[in-house]
Amino acid sequence: MADSPLTERLYCTPGNAGIAQEAERVPLDLTDHAAVVAFCRDHQIDLVVVGPEAPLCAGIVDDLESAGVKAFGPSRAAAQLEGSKGFTKDLCRANNIPTAAYARFKAAPAAKDYIRSHGAPIVVKADGLAAGKGVIVAQSEAEAEAAVDMMFDGGLGEAGGEIVIEEFLDGEEASFFALCDGEIAIPMASAQDHKRAFDGDKGPNTGGMGAYSPASNIDAAMSGRIMNDIVAPTMRAMKAMGTPYKGVLYAGLMITPQGPKLIEYNARFGDPETQVLMPRLMSDLVPALLASRDGMLKSFGLRWHDTPALTVVMAANGYPGHYARGTVIDGLEDAAAVEGVEIFHAGTKAEGGRILANGGRVLNISATGKTVREAQARAYAAVARIRWPEGFYRRDIGWRAVEREGRA
Ligand code: AMP
Repeated sequence: MADSPLTERLYCTPGNAGIAQEAERVPLDLTDHAAVVAFCRDHQIDLVVVGPEAPLCAGIVDDLESAGVKAFGPSRAAAQLEGSKGFTKDLCRANNIPTAAYARFKAAPAAKDYIRSHGAPIVVKADGLAAGKGVIVAQSEAEAEAAVDMMFDGGLGEAGGEIVIEEFLDGEEASFFALCDGEIAIPMASAQDHKRAFDGDKGPNTGGMGAYSPASNIDAAMSGRIMNDIVAPTMRAMKAMGTPYKGVLYAGLMITPQGPKLIEYNARFGDPETQVLMPRLMSDLVPALLASRDGMLKSFGLRWHDTPALTVVMAANGYPGHYARGTVIDGLEDAAAVEGVEIFHAGTKAEGGRILANGGRVLNISATGKTVREAQARAYAAVARIRWPEGFYRRDIGWRAVEREGRA
């Protein structure tokens, strides 16, 4: 957005040390919609782009729009595609959208009966938003039953008041992004991320330790199938219910031997995928966001660079468990000078002219290249210039794609 000639001024809340170089940070309480609306009116904001899921599900787009402020993203009702796993599963069932077989539960005994009759592996999910902690892929019935108890005992707060139990899907995952205007959806790009903390896809699940785009398991034919079998029927169903979907629809998919199946939707640009999508976007982002909001995507085309992009996440030692804040990061300018590299901040803050770590996932080191291997080499060359002993990163981001390139 900062690159767009249409952007005169850019504000951001809450932001971090990186985005502060492009946008003016304003301290707003995102749960106080009236304060956000007042800020937008005072500053004559032309377009609000909502990043995270919590304000979307709390209806911030509805509140901005009814106050006359244009906002990009789904309404509260449409954001249920992310906010309620049960809602999305029911929508899939009613519209023949391929997804794992499932059942919804509000109490433990019936849930446990279902687990016993289906056996492990099996997947237990909290219905609501759980900041990435709401999914347990259980390898045994005992583990699945423990997950049921944890959720109904309030381990995930309100999010676990209702649960979904579903069939374990075997295959390779990918993410697929479409831009939607309530009527139609246009494909954006695909990506693959690495959720586990350590090399070799080992260790605990995280918000994502790196990603690359395009996904090496999604070709043009697969992309067409995902649009036809999953995204388009979702758009039609949402419109038919009177809750048309606008914004980015991020489909988490399992590519199975029977074809693509929906694992979940996110109602927004996610990360670290966005840090590999944006470097590949040739078109101006701002008119695309406006066309989505205005219902004008019909005659709109997005152009992408064919070249891949890859991002390596640098996280604080201990993440996703306990970690320290306030450690000093050096060498960022040097790192950003590597050809093809762009550094995006996550949990950072600036203090006394220095950049400090201020979260679990702290930096995204993104790079483009002629091949995934080249993008990977550039990203890691930049990582090597960053001096941050209290941080760690995976050394194998993009390994599937690099392997496929090697075979081609
Ligand atoms: P989600 O938060 O729904 O994306 O789930 C987190 C992760 O759990 C996914 O990225 C998958 O790796 C895994 N997962 C979720 N549902 C299933 C399923 N039905 N079968 C296999 N793995 C799953």
